Amino acid sequence: MNESAHGLSTRCVHDGEITDPQGAPHTPIYNSTTFVFEDTKSLLDVVEGRKPGNLYTRYGLNPSIKSLESKLASIEFGEAALAFSSGMASEAALFLALGRRGIVCIGDAYGGTLELLDDQIRSLNIPVYFLLGSDLDRLDALLDKGVDLVFLETPTNPALEIFDIRDLAERAHKMGALLVVDNTFATPVNQNPLLLGADLVVHSATKYLGGHSDITAGALIGPASLIEKVGPWRKNLGQMLAPETASLLSRSLRTLVPRVKQQNESASAIAQALARHPKVQRVLYPGLPDFPGHALAKRQMSGFGGMMTMELDSDETGTRKVADSFRIFRIAPSLGGAESLCTQPVTTTHHGLPEMERQRRGITGSMIRFSIGFEDASDLIADIEQALKSI
Ligand code: PLP
Repeated sequence: MNESAHGLSTRCVHDGEITDPQGAPHTPIYNSTTFVFEDTKSLLDVVEGRKPGNLYTRYGLNPSIKSLESKLASIEFGEAALAFSSGMASEAALFLALGRRGIVCIGDAYGGTLELLDDQIRSLNIPVYFLLGSDLDRLDALLDKGVDLVFLETPTNPALEIFDIRDLAERAHKMGALLVVDNTFATPVNQNPLLLGADLVVHSATKYLGGHSDITAGALIGPASLIEKVGPWRKNLGQMLAPETASLLSRSLRTLVPRVKQQNESASAIAQALARHPKVQRVLYPGLPDFPGHALAKRQMSGFGGMMTMELDSDETGTRKVADSFRIFRIAPSLGGAESLCTQPVTTTHHGLPEMERQRRGITGSMIRFSIGFEDASDLIADIEQALKSI
């Protein structure tokens, strides 16, 4: 585990940066696909692992990529990290490398994750089990079958359900399984799964880590002994991100803490305002004292994040009218950027699910999910209030 004495903001700015002979204060972009050697012996020293060095970008042996990975490991309190071309690439490599005896997916994970597990991973005869929060008492029986991985998001999408990472890690470890947390929604600013007992953290860095809706990337972080097992899968499946993207992601990580803190603060103000609105039936936000997961969120998170869902006192058509009436919020199926976004989960993340399955998961047509950006919270509240006048 990486336990540098520095605080998270300092790690975000400085960790992983290389000392540039030209004096740049951060790692330059090494856009080379390959690296040259003085002689064959020097090349073989790197190829055969006797010396660290740069070699070939797809292998990750490139200074821009190594610099990013060292920063990612540091900010998630991990020993090592792998950067990927997308969040899905990191999950696919993880499942194939470490999940072959079986995978339990807990809660309402991202739709792409559910599809990958249910279609591609299952088609390889890897047992996959889905457990909703209400079925957690079945977890021990599933673990008893000898699964390798327990995978979850907390908070979940779009209901912001909170799971107890410490408790799940203990239950998984007792039965020889690893616990993996998708920390995309919370970010290391608000939650540190590895310090709570999880074995690995994955990220869609496309979201808060990238933070500007202009990078597609992923990350996997954890102990070197596990990360080393996933590395060859990334290499040979060709899942590397470009050095230019690695450099952009490092640039974004330097401002991660102030960005996420601002989003926490605005989201909290907006959630409180919405909770008082007569046309809003429910606000799902872990920071609200009456939210079912609030006490647990308070224990395991240091901030409540920039994501929330409101459920309206209206049907799907009325809710769509509200979504179509926003002037600042834009309709899009992503999150974590500077601009505030909204989406009706039934039209995006949960579009493909049959109605019965949506009901089982508590997803209704009256929900709108928000990703709160950097606009003034007062402007965002006013935007929601004017849109609610449409019904
Ligand atoms: N995990 C979460 C929580 C997500 O929201 C997403 C995408 O929306 C992913 C993983 C997949 O990430 P990517 O789109 O970068 O492949």
